[in-house]
Amino acid sequence: MQVLLADEYGFCFGVERAVEMVEEALGEGDTVRTLGPLIHNDQEMSRLATHGVSTVNAPVQIKRGETAVIRAHGVTPQVEQELREKASKVVDATCPFVTKVQKLASRAAAQNRHVVVVGNPEHPEMIGVFGYAPEHTFVISDVKEVAALPKLNNPLVVSQTTIKLQNFLDVAEAVKQKAEGETQIVNTICSATRDRQDAARALAGEVDAFYIIGGRHSSNSRKLLAVCKEQCEKSFLIETEDEINAEDLQGAKRVGLTAGASTPNWLIKKITKRLEEIGAEN
Ligand code: SF4
Repeated sequence: MQVLLADEYGFCFGVERAVEMVEEALGEGDTVRTLGPLIHNDQEMSRLATHGVSTVNAPVQIKRGETAVIRAHGVTPQVEQELREKASKVVDATCPFVTKVQKLASRAAAQNRHVVVVGNPEHPEMIGVFGYAPEHTFVISDVKEVAALPKLNNPLVVSQTTIKLQNFLDVAEAVKQKAEGETQIVNTICSATRDRQDAARALAGEVDAFYIIGGRHSSNSRKLLAVCKEQCEKSFLIETEDEINAEDLQGAKRVGLTAGASTPNWLIKKITKRLEEIGAEN
């Protein structure tokens, strides 16, 4: 039985960078506390916990002497300020793609322009971006909400990094029609999610079974499962190697494997090994 990895899988650039920054702080002997879970993967969070990394829900829970970590989603300037007041050190692991959206919003607001961000207003990334220009920004999730917006002055249209391109384009066009003055449209969608889905889709049609490694509460892992299921009925979302049922692999010649953007490499290797062992036994 052959185990085939999709061309793109696992940690995206921003998550890998955040984990590396946490490890660097640990290497310097810091007591590390992340504001919110660093990533949506219980196994990696447990591994980090064994090194003393813990999660807090608010800056007030951080004590002097501790290192506070801002995760890849970023935070509002106010929250960052609170962290700097509480912690001895702040590690800012905001993904540079998110920082770009924050800066664009902040600059447009300074020019007294409106900012329309296409995304989920409840998502931590959007809460952070909104905080950079609260008086000028509207976070909306789709084109139907454009009509309810007030008059828009030379607006900037940007996006949450993980939304669908068509949704962004539809909103951008509707804003352009409604706006007064010039509309600046900057596509700030990150391709990491789409690249993983495209690679999984390409492989799913060529295998007898497909395993997606990722947290059950990770939305990008669940989307990968849906994409694979379209081509390969025997597609399974698993968190650990214990969830592989050898019976599902009876007669399988080729097995596909991919992983969500929060799945660490060590876990992918462990699961690849287990699949190869099952292949050798069957
Ligand atoms: S998905 Fe993209 S924007 Fe989000 S953390 Fe990963 S690289 Fe950064």
